Amino acid sequence: MQIGVLAIQGDYEAHKARLEELGAAVTLVRKPEQLDAIDAIVIPGGESSTFLNFLAENGFLEKLRKFVRTKPVFGTCAGAILLAKDVENPPQESLGALDICIRRNAYGRQVDSSIHEAETELAGGPLEMVFIRAPKIVSTGKDVEVLAIEGSDPVLVRQGKVMAATFHPELSRDTRVHQEFLKLVRNGHKPK
Ligand code: GLN
Repeated sequence: MQIGVLAIQGDYEAHKARLEELGAAVTLVRKPEQLDAIDAIVIPGGESSTFLNFLAENGFLEKLRKFVRTKPVFGTCAGAILLAKDVENPPQESLGALDICIRRNAYGRQVDSSIHEAETELAGGPLEMVFIRAPKIVSTGKDVEVLAIEGSDPVLVRQGKVMAATFHPELSRDTRVHQEFLKLVRNGHKPK
């Protein structure tokens, strides 16, 4: 199993380190043809509009769109924005792999960054969540499972092979979210 981490921009090194800590083989993905050699991909945080500018070159966006239709993917923050079916504030293009509507920079400037603990469906008690200019999931389709809620907002969701978090699990010491993704990669579908 080879896990790709999209390494165009953002905190891809932290994801790589976390996945390697959990025993995964990781490839940093910078070119569309690298998608042919991986089994799953992580799309990190960063700036979703910058990702889109970069992905516009060499058919990268189209190739990634096809990839996430069939292979496991985990998007954090900007990555979650890229995966969403609908994006607000402002509307922008996306991969449309996850049936959610998401609003960029939804928590205002005064709470640009914050750390919370919240309950999660993942075993092992409350989860630390680092939010950085986070988007808000404003609605979820019927096939989307909510794995964690902070306040009244879903912050960790899953639909089939697609997982997304509006926070940054790669910046906390807790490894459960990445473990959950690796389970999904191994099982090829929703982990039991
Ligand atoms: N604010 C960024 C965006 O809208 C996301 C921030 C992040 O990834 N930490 O794309």
